[in-house]
Amino acid sequence: MTRASTSPSSRAESKSLSAPAELLQLHETIRACKNCGLHATRTQAVPGVGPCPADVMIVGEAPGFNEDRQGEPFVGAAGKLLDTLLARISLGRADVYITNVLKCRPPMNRDPMPNEVEACSPYLKRQLELVQPKVVLILGRHALERLMPGQGSISRIHGSLIKRGDIAYVPLYHPAAALHNGSLVADLERDFDALKRYLDQLLAPPPPPIAISVPKPESEQLRLL
Ligand code: URA
Repeated sequence: MTRASTSPSSRAESKSLSAPAELLQLHETIRACKNCGLHATRTQAVPGVGPCPADVMIVGEAPGFNEDRQGEPFVGAAGKLLDTLLARISLGRADVYITNVLKCRPPMNRDPMPNEVEACSPYLKRQLELVQPKVVLILGRHALERLMPGQGSISRIHGSLIKRGDIAYVPLYHPAAALHNGSLVADLERDFDALKRYLDQLLAPPPPPIAISVPKPESEQLRLL
């Protein structure tokens, strides 16, 4: 298990690649990854999907049963709810890059273990660098702990906008949690409505430059008469 040999940014040849090409290469690296024990129980790794660059990036916890089979994040029941919430604010899958903290399914969908999160974290870091999102939606407490350690519980900060450097983060309840506890659906809907307002502000095109007319010097004004 040599981490260095598969480090996503250590590949010399990637220096000359465009970000989308390097992201595809990173996906291949992830598909071949054996940096933690989850490779032994997965059907396949689930690197991520979506455009590069993308204004909005979504980070979930880990692939589940359906994602492990299909190789794509959020294709099961939680994914259907995510699609509905995105549609509510006029976004579709084609508009967002979606990935998870863990790229491989933990057996029986158990919680990610610290060594697994550690092994996967260079991949998420590189995905953020390559996709260059302006806004990152953090789905659930595991993604929150990875991306904003010590920030507090998801029940306290869900729906808020937290700026860190060039990126604005929006922690949200995980859609799977809302499938177990129906009362969270209303929270998610409210938070997506707030998200729409954030996106309208953050992604608005810059206003056109204002033409400032500089008065001509008096001598020139007289010459023009
Ligand atoms: N839950 C997640 O966190 N990610 C998925 O891809 C699917 C379910």
